[in-house]
Amino acid sequence: MTAPFALYIDGRFEAGAATFDSIDPATGQVWAQMPEARIDEVERAVTAAERALRDPAWAGLTASQRGRLLYRLADLLEHAAPELAALETRDTGKIVRETRGQIAYVAHYYRYYAGIADQVRGHVVPVDKPDMQVWIKREPLGVVAAIVPWNSQLFLSAVKLGPALAAGCTVVLKASEEAPAPLLAFARLIHEAGFPPGVVNIITGFGPECGAVLSRHPKVSLVAFTGGPETARHIIRNTADNLAKVSLELGGKSPLVVFADADIDSAVNAQLAAIFAASGQSCVAGSRLLIEAGVKDAFLARLIEKVNAIRVGAPDDAQTEYGPLCTERQLRTIETVVAQSIEQGARLLTGGHRIERDGFYYAPTVLDCSGVPRAMSEITELFGPVLSIDVFSDEADAIAKANSTDYGLAAGVFTRDLTRAHRMSQAIHAGVVWLNTYRAVSPHAPFGGYGLSGHGREGGADAVLDYTTTKTVWLRTSDAPMGDPFVMR
Ligand code: NAD
Repeated sequence: MTAPFALYIDGRFEAGAATFDSIDPATGQVWAQMPEARIDEVERAVTAAERALRDPAWAGLTASQRGRLLYRLADLLEHAAPELAALETRDTGKIVRETRGQIAYVAHYYRYYAGIADQVRGHVVPVDKPDMQVWIKREPLGVVAAIVPWNSQLFLSAVKLGPALAAGCTVVLKASEEAPAPLLAFARLIHEAGFPPGVVNIITGFGPECGAVLSRHPKVSLVAFTGGPETARHIIRNTADNLAKVSLELGGKSPLVVFADADIDSAVNAQLAAIFAASGQSCVAGSRLLIEAGVKDAFLARLIEKVNAIRVGAPDDAQTEYGPLCTERQLRTIETVVAQSIEQGARLLTGGHRIERDGFYYAPTVLDCSGVPRAMSEITELFGPVLSIDVFSDEADAIAKANSTDYGLAAGVFTRDLTRAHRMSQAIHAGVVWLNTYRAVSPHAPFGGYGLSGHGREGGADAVLDYTTTKTVWLRTSDAPMGDPFVMR
């Protein structure tokens, strides 16, 4: 295990301006000290990234050589997955079953972008002028500030680092102050893979003292952000100073729509995974079930039976199916919103309370909100294990209810009717629509939201282009001298 934890700036590990406590969510106790980056550390990290951007040690590499570094990183990551998973589990409370699988899969993202590094092409433009060759080159955009939340952080940083490094950018990656251990440990792999100093810098610290300083730094060209909408608004204000490009991957209030003709067992399993995986702390959590009225009772009977059988336990136990929330603050927010929803008339079908054990455990909760207009749990992104249920009468009603939120990250639809599935995928305002499945992701498939869920697209080949800018080069191919502009002809 990697301890003590350190910042990684300009190829060196260092202690930081101060340290702060990291809490083990399974016990509620401090388990480690984390190094804090403040203005000075941020300044040095960005300066190192700016220098590395022009340094022949990085700028002089061919695209294939950059790809090879990414392949090496992927191999190291695959090898280190169990260790990093244990750290993520300890620091975030996310169960080890989930962290192991997810981190091992993240290696595929680095491989995918390794393979794309030498596929980033410019092109020649047939301009309307004789004796001119014009071509467009793709160049790295510059220094990237990658700011991530505490959940799925190796994954959320891979979808930024992979395309950024493939494109030739340099990066300052800021881990969340809530649980920075796995990303600080990941810095060792960057070092071992052989990236030149300054190409990737990994720091952590608090929003105002670290994230804000980083996102408004004059040398930063792009802020790639994943987190909540309120922080996104700060980032946009911060970038009013440096005019950096911004990509935003934010939260959601995603619906799962189940028609009466669906495979109900399959839909129940999808709903369980959609809202209770990672104890609901997932941007794509399917937190609103929209069920066709005729099958509501049958669906709920099966769902509640399965919810009540979920195995709660210590997150580092491979048998555990459900662990704690990451923070106590999150636990309190959930308690408040569930209580407000019940006051509004929502019926508690299961859960709705803390679990009697140390740490930040909250029971998997199902609220029937049908007939309760704008129940708090239906409109607030809770980032927790709370499912709100509403019924619909027909397809139009399902579409209206699915789209009744300002978010638009993801949606699921379960039906055996293929043409209806197509119509639903067109009508739902969301960046990702899963038909008869939920939560599937792949390096090949873009991911991102509409509306309050942000506007970035991560994953897929085009993501590399977001980390490039174009340069248009004009070459006059005639050997005749340029005419004197002041002589009239
Ligand atoms: P958050 O917005 O509180 O924090 C995210 C990061 O922003 C942290 O590193 C934090 O230190 C930093 N930050 C805070 N204030 C800042 C400021 N003023 N300037 C710059 N940086 C600042 O998010 P969180 O609570 O850690 O994570 C949960 C949120 O993330 C949820 O809304 C969730 O839906 C969202 N999320 C989205 C995706 C996606 O891909 N769309 C994935 C995971 C999580």
